[in-house]
Amino acid sequence: MKSFDVAIAGGGLIGASIAFELAQAGLRVGVFERGEPGREASWASAGILSPAPESPSMISMVPMARASMALYPALVASVEECTGASVGFRTKGTIDILFSRDALSDLSTLIALHHGMGLKAEPLRPEDARELEPSLSLELEAAALRPDEASIDNRAFTQAMLQAAKKSGAEVFSDSGAVAIRREGDRCVGLKLQNENVDAKWTIIAAGCFSANIEGVKEYAPVRPAKGQMISLRSDEVKIERVLWGEKVYIVPRNDGRILAGATVEYVGFDKHVTAGGVEKILAAAIEVVPGLESARIEETWAGLRPDSPDHLPIVGPTDSVGLLIATGHFRSGVLLTPITARLIREWITDRSVSIDWDRLSPMRFANARRETTA
Ligand SMILES: Cc1cc2nc3c(=O)[nH]c(=O)nc-3n(C[C@H](O)[C@H](O)[C@H](O)COP(=O)(O)OP(=O)(O)OC[C@H]3O[C@@H](n4cnc5c(N)ncnc54)[C@H](O)[C@@H]3O)c2cc1C
Repeated sequence: MKSFDVAIAGGGLIGASIAFELAQAGLRVGVFERGEPGREASWASAGILSPAPESPSMISMVPMARASMALYPALVASVEECTGASVGFRTKGTIDILFSRDALSDLSTLIALHHGMGLKAEPLRPEDARELEPSLSLELEAAALRPDEASIDNRAFTQAMLQAAKKSGAEVFSDSGAVAIRREGDRCVGLKLQNENVDAKWTIIAAGCFSANIEGVKEYAPVRPAKGQMISLRSDEVKIERVLWGEKVYIVPRNDGRILAGATVEYVGFDKHVTAGGVEKILAAAIEVVPGLESARIEETWAGLRPDSPDHLPIVGPTDSVGLLIATGHFRSGVLLTPITARLIREWITDRSVSIDWDRLSPMRFANARRETTA
């Protein structure tokens, strides 16, 4: 039987980053991935790093999001140094673009909301926005620069993270999906794979939106998939430096010249088809923000599945099954929250205490509620 200090189910960005942190701390780590590592949500993502909440339910996450953002430069530097890879970390900020008739009042609300949460946002006149980003529409009414926001090439970052984890001593097993957690009394003692058992003092579930399919996990992590469709474009005319937030779309430039546009949010189970309606909506909204994209070449379309939780907040922390931790449910912010998730899990395992309050993210909020309703 394989035996590790830590067994991680799931080889996406979250599992890989936890493996990297723990292997660097000297633990023997095994990552068990159902398919090919790093090919699910972490591959499909847009890689925007924005601590601003996308809905009121996410406001409570801002302190954690800011803490994660603060860890980003050092994590990128250590992964790039460890692997020699470049992960396309772009730190020029992002720009909100407003078209509505009420754009000026929407802008002052947006700026006030950001400042109220301790986040930077600066109003831009349309002509100033176009000076920063000449390809922006002439129709825009107002804009705001969020100077501290960034983006990363999530595909490159995920692969580099997996490589960095391996170089630090972690073992990564492809085609090795976890079927169940293994329990002995009140302890979790590892993972049951299709054809073998894995022994571990600590077991971490980081299987994204598939986590609840692992037997014994659903009560702690009742996640479901939230499909997002994306499009990659190339244009010889359009040059974009920063992430652009339209009212119905975001546009993300990459170092290799790709321009990404996305994304839908759909609750349609585990379906990953790209649809005509999804593509139509994304393209129409992207062309409204940057009209020059009308002649851009469509290079690639894809869809991925975000791990969403019932309250849309991440599920990170220990359970009442001793040795079992959960790290999933990051929904639309898993790339942003990667550094803080890995840091908190590592702190808990090595020190049994964490540097920021993570009670709100506890997997026990679901397990306790479920037990109360079935009692
Ligand atoms: C279209 C889209 C756009 C997004 N944009 C952003 C963004 O701009 N910024 C941001 O911060 N976040 C964004 N996200 C969200 C972010 O991508 C996710 O929150 C994050 O990638 C989740 O990482 P993960 O490792 O938990 O999950 P995943 O990357 O899905 O990894 C989970 C892994 O577990 C494996 N697995 C499944 N079942 C098992 C099993 N039984 N045993 C072992 N392994 C298993 C899977 O094969 C997979 O490799 C976006 C997501 C999508 C889909």
